[in-house]
Amino acid sequence: MLRSGLPQCGQALSCYGMACGPALIDRYGRAISYLRISVTDRCDLRCRYCMAEQMTFLPKDRLLSLDEMALIGERFIARGIRKIRLTGGEPLVKRDVIDLVRRLGRHVGAELDELTLTTNGTRLAEHAEDLVDAGVRRINVSLDSRDPDTFRFITRHGDVEQVLGGIAAAKAAGLAVKINMVALKGLNEAEVAPMLGWCVEQGFDLSLIETMPLGAIDEDRTDRFVPLTQVFEDLQAPFELVRDPHNSGGPARYWRVAGTGTRLGLISPLTGNFCASCNRMRMTTEGLLYMCLGHDDRVDLKAALREGGLAAVDAALERALAAKPEAHDFRIAAGATPAVARHMSVTGG
Ligand code: SF4
Repeated sequence: MLRSGLPQCGQALSCYGMACGPALIDRYGRAISYLRISVTDRCDLRCRYCMAEQMTFLPKDRLLSLDEMALIGERFIARGIRKIRLTGGEPLVKRDVIDLVRRLGRHVGAELDELTLTTNGTRLAEHAEDLVDAGVRRINVSLDSRDPDTFRFITRHGDVEQVLGGIAAAKAAGLAVKINMVALKGLNEAEVAPMLGWCVEQGFDLSLIETMPLGAIDEDRTDRFVPLTQVFEDLQAPFELVRDPHNSGGPARYWRVAGTGTRLGLISPLTGNFCASCNRMRMTTEGLLYMCLGHDDRVDLKAALREGGLAAVDAALERALAAKPEAHDFRIAAGATPAVARHMSVTGG
């Protein structure tokens, strides 16, 4: 039995018997309150900016089991994490992932403010109601185009109708939806304004994302890079956008579409500077904890858990806090090698 000791804080019921630990504060004084768990590196799509067409995925024997993911996730909760996002690859292609969602979802409304996920939407129609039952209230859906041909081109074979059906099912099940759209020069720039209009109509939020230099892909990213400052300027004619002070501690800056419930986020890891308020860490499906999306430093939580249980996980977390860098090191100059070699699908963006 890996679950450790007696509660030290007198909150046995809300902690499910886990011993609490000190809050996760790094050497720059930043409190870590947000964990992203990539539950699989696999995906049923092959978006051009994310994956090469022929990808080699991790062998199953290198992966954490769902039970190990839950144990580590619950340890983070006991150490003060308030929000967990499940990502991939595509989290809903992972077999039995709903069991993990249910297990972590038990903490929502107590130690955890939010359990959410980022999905490509292909399997949402099957899972939307289970997600709501398990405690999920909001999801992010990646959707770079609503045009069938452009969507198929970007994803290399995806069917946009399947994704739109999944989004409709999520809405019907009561999930709040945020659309994530990566701005891609020459591919979907003309669709940004119509996408925002559609989100307003549907009651969704929209986040626009600059391409990120993570992992070798088949294209030169500088060919597809669109600065969001320019996209934002183009949106100001059709929409009245009002600055929204919301701050997620990440690389997004927000606006409201005046007179609607729609929030517009601009995520600019390259042109914005968000590191000073960074509150997050990312764990891969094989239990590697990355302290920064733009650095390769990591600690191995799978090895820690298997060799020394949760006490060793705590010790690894101390090493992670000491190693979290002050800022990322992204660059996207023509011909530049990616700042980090791993693909976005490994750490889930
Ligand atoms: S961007 Fe998302 S949907 Fe597209 S290949 Fe990567 S993980 Fe899959």
